[in-house]
Amino acid sequence: MRTGPPPMDPWGRAVSPGADPARGRLVIVPLGRVDDVAVRVAAGQVQAVFNLPVDVSDPRPEPEYALIPARRQYDAGAIIKALAADPVGPAWRLGLTEADLCLPFLTHVYGESQLGGRAAVVSPRRLRIEPGGGRAPIETLYERLAKVVLHEVGHLRGLVHCPRSGCLMNFSLGLDQLDQLMACFCPDCERRLGLRGGKADP
Ligand SMILES: [Zn+2]
Ligand SMILES: [Zn+2]
Repeated sequence: MRTGPPPMDPWGRAVSPGADPARGRLVIVPLGRVDDVAVRVAAGQVQAVFNLPVDVSDPRPEPEYALIPARRQYDAGAIIKALAADPVGPAWRLGLTEADLCLPFLTHVYGESQLGGRAAVVSPRRLRIEPGGGRAPIETLYERLAKVVLHEVGHLRGLVHCPRSGCLMNFSLGLDQLDQLMACFCPDCERRLGLRGGKADP
């Protein structure tokens, strides 16, 4: 016989009977050689903003299976499909890679994720370049990375793109647009996520 309040997930939503509590964790999966600081930035942001426990797995090989030779880029969709098919553990997973990511219909992406799904991938590679050329200052790189990681985890949590000015869930194809975003979700998106003590939408 159960006593006390029903079990809650990290967003204050009741966990349905039989739900696996380990799903409420995120695993960062370095794919090939990835900057250690980038891994720590991603882990810290997800922990702080989503109040979500984060683990970092051992590095895995470069995602050569996703290479599109004619473009010399990597298919972000193929990478998240591979991550999501991982039989080990029920947690969400976020791949981090130095590969130059693209989608069949986009010249490049900084990250990609399954909407309401299990896996996302982010690459800092293009975040190092200033829109006018040259290398971005290190703090700019990590600020951009934090925004992209939070955006993609927002998608994993079921958020779609948001039209509110400055919200992290704006769609950004270019760094100019990314740099204009605030490092937070708008009140509507926060409510949908159940952040800041609000109740999540069902
Ligand atoms: Zn998006
Ligand atoms: Zn929003």
